[in-house]
Amino acid sequence: MESFPARETRIGDLVVARALPIRERRMVGPWCFLDRYGPLTFSAGRPMDVAPHPHIGLQTVTWLLDGEVEHDDSLGNQSLLRPGGVNVMTSGGGIAHAEQTPRDHSGRLNGVQLWTALPDTVRDAEAGFAHVDHVPEVESRDGMATIFAGTLAGAASPAPYFSPIVGADLRIHAGHTLALPLDPAFEHAVLVLDGDAALDGQPLAPRMLHYLGVARSHADFVSADGGRVLLIGGAPFAEKILMWWNFVARTPEEIAAARADWESHRRFGDVRHYRGGRLEAPKLVQAARPAPMS
Ligand code: MN
Repeated sequence: MESFPARETRIGDLVVARALPIRERRMVGPWCFLDRYGPLTFSAGRPMDVAPHPHIGLQTVTWLLDGEVEHDDSLGNQSLLRPGGVNVMTSGGGIAHAEQTPRDHSGRLNGVQLWTALPDTVRDAEAGFAHVDHVPEVESRDGMATIFAGTLAGAASPAPYFSPIVGADLRIHAGHTLALPLDPAFEHAVLVLDGDAALDGQPLAPRMLHYLGVARSHADFVSADGGRVLLIGGAPFAEKILMWWNFVARTPEEIAAARADWESHRRFGDVRHYRGGRLEAPKLVQAARPAPMS
């Protein structure tokens, strides 16, 4: 197991811990981006308010532990996400969206935002959006696995993905061991979301991405006082990707073209249900610099 600290950054007013990409680890299977935000409470304002911005070459996956997120995109989709459900947006060759705390809210926010890189064969296919209200849960006396991506412990998420993948929110009861079968063809990583957990006798430090490598056929999670762990994995992604801002591409030219199209109001469409301006693309100083926004 290799452990890497997430780095703190900001998206508007929202402080996030970015666990992917980091210098030492760019991807885990097709997963190429992982932001952890919250838990936080608020009485005024909106902690999440990400104005319309474009994406290419990826899926955005929004998973909540608490609170609400409203999604609006340039296809006209509107969706209110709550814990237990998942929002998966597939960019195809280009889409724009906004994510924000809705007007009616619980005053709490706690979740993760992930991206998957789309394989070359489908990355220019049609854009789409899927909201799943309740993803499958597998419960035992030791805890529960909630599967928002791919298949785990015999349960499959109905959300659409385009390469072999797994994404799950694991709850381990206090004093129990949650034993899970894993696909040995996958590489996996875990991030503690709450409480305490240990794997292979090693405590899983918080705010760290713990990379488990490939060829692991099971994982037994232990918790003293109860814990919650995010598990991500998939077949190692065979293609070399280039990430810049909100784009996943293969060449600097593709990124420059996507940036130019966003700045010229081409390709991506308008997010009509969002009130307010949109995000401007940063200057294209260095195409290979990974500075994803959300
Ligand atoms: Mn986004």
